[in-house]
Amino acid sequence: MRIPHLINGQAIAGRDHFDSINPANQQVLATVAAGSAEEVQLAVAAAKSALPAWAGKPPAQRAKIMHRLGELITRDQAELARIETADCGQAIAQTGANLVPRAADSFHHYAELCTRMDGQTHPTPTHLNYTLLQPVGVCALVAPWNVPLLTASAKVAPCLAFGNTAVLKPSELSPLTAARLGELALEAGVPPGVLNIVQGNGRDAGAPLVAHPDVRLVSFTGSTATGHAIVRNAGLKKYSMELGGKSPFIVFEDADFERALDAALVMIFSINGERCTAGSRILVQRTIYPEFARRFVERARRIPVGDPLDPATVIGPMVSQGHLARVRGYIELGLQEGATLLCGGVQKPDYAPEVAGSVRDGNFVWPTVFADVRPDMRIMREEIFGPVACLQPFDDEADAIAQANDNPYGLASYVWSENAGRAHRVAAALEAGVCYVNSQSARDPRPPFGGVKASGLGRDGGHWSLQTFTEPKNISISYGQHAIPRWGL
Ligand code: NAD
Repeated sequence: MRIPHLINGQAIAGRDHFDSINPANQQVLATVAAGSAEEVQLAVAAAKSALPAWAGKPPAQRAKIMHRLGELITRDQAELARIETADCGQAIAQTGANLVPRAADSFHHYAELCTRMDGQTHPTPTHLNYTLLQPVGVCALVAPWNVPLLTASAKVAPCLAFGNTAVLKPSELSPLTAARLGELALEAGVPPGVLNIVQGNGRDAGAPLVAHPDVRLVSFTGSTATGHAIVRNAGLKKYSMELGGKSPFIVFEDADFERALDAALVMIFSINGERCTAGSRILVQRTIYPEFARRFVERARRIPVGDPLDPATVIGPMVSQGHLARVRGYIELGLQEGATLLCGGVQKPDYAPEVAGSVRDGNFVWPTVFADVRPDMRIMREEIFGPVACLQPFDDEADAIAQANDNPYGLASYVWSENAGRAHRVAAALEAGVCYVNSQSARDPRPPFGGVKASGLGRDGGHWSLQTFTEPKNISISYGQHAIPRWGL
């Protein structure tokens, strides 16, 4: 299969190519066009010339097209889930039931919201101020590899619904579903040039895209290090930055133990642990810590690892051999730092069944749990982005808050307590953009999503995406009788 760029509604083969590899068996899934400044230039020019007509469409017409695109994603849901799973290694049970349907939801949600955009009026005795929400212009949408269709949709849907045009750069590690999204957009009636896709890596395609002078906004999801590099390179633009995380999952002794245990396992082992909201620092009150750790490890050892296309699989292969080496490197580091390995490890543990022959060469990491982790250890401070949990006891509420906040990141957080007052107090005190109480992450398209500290800038979701993807303009009109100084008469 060959995957081209999508520029001005045309499939552009490009001069250079790279292979997209199936992480379950190392086979080539597709040969993908590798973009450079040349394709970026064409794509930005196409987005710029498509902007006036698209921004000038009545919102109801844009909404109709966005709804249609959501319906097409639902029509092709099974195929998209299979492509996504083959490309990035996420288990089909999660791509099919959760990640692809949520991509469709994004288009329906922003289709509705764009028809309800309204400004404000601020009258004075002499002037009427009113606010127009206008599209920002040409937007660069740069996506990571972990949940590619969902992230692309969460950017493309509000961007287009609110009247902007876009150049999307998917990750070079999982480019396939974004390419399908481009085809579906054309089928839905998105005019040529409104959504362009330049494939390729960060250095050759991403960097010239974000730095392009006609790009007015960069909506980026990816690592904190790349976020810094983009701001340095792209200069003064509007930014939305959804970056890394090392989220605390806090379990008090008065929590519903069984539900907390279930959710703790889900939040570190779902999406292969390759999720920005992973509850990777599991902080448990000392009184229940030994029992929690024992039960957590007992369950973690039994989680099925293997062929991501098997509906029974929970953890599929890491997205690439490079990322596999990185995750294994952190496991080795944890051992060197003196943490205690309770299960998993660098290689397949003896208690785990062999994976099937056809995926024997997959980039697998088995659920790995460290205990006796100190707050200063790198495995406790840095984002591993794999199925690796760190368990740590705490003494009381103040200690839990202090440990949770002792980290550079501030994306998600989780609090488990049946004491409502404590749950509210701790949720308010945590340095995080999102806090789930007595729950795993439960995303809704309306509330704000994003991080503080090293986890990012700005918020996505509902009205917060409206703020990102529009510029408010104040228009101040005089009633014609206010005083104007008459200098120089
Ligand atoms: P990454 O930063 O390596 O790459 C992200 C994207 O940026 C890719 O498309 C890449 O090609 C591009 N890129 C790389 N260098 C660039 C440059 N100099 N200029 C422009 N573009 C460039 O991240 P990744 O490894 O793909 O994704 C994993 C990271 O994403 C993790 O840190 C994870 O926490 C984060 N993430 C955050 C969220 C969130 O909502 N906060 C969601 C998903 C993933």
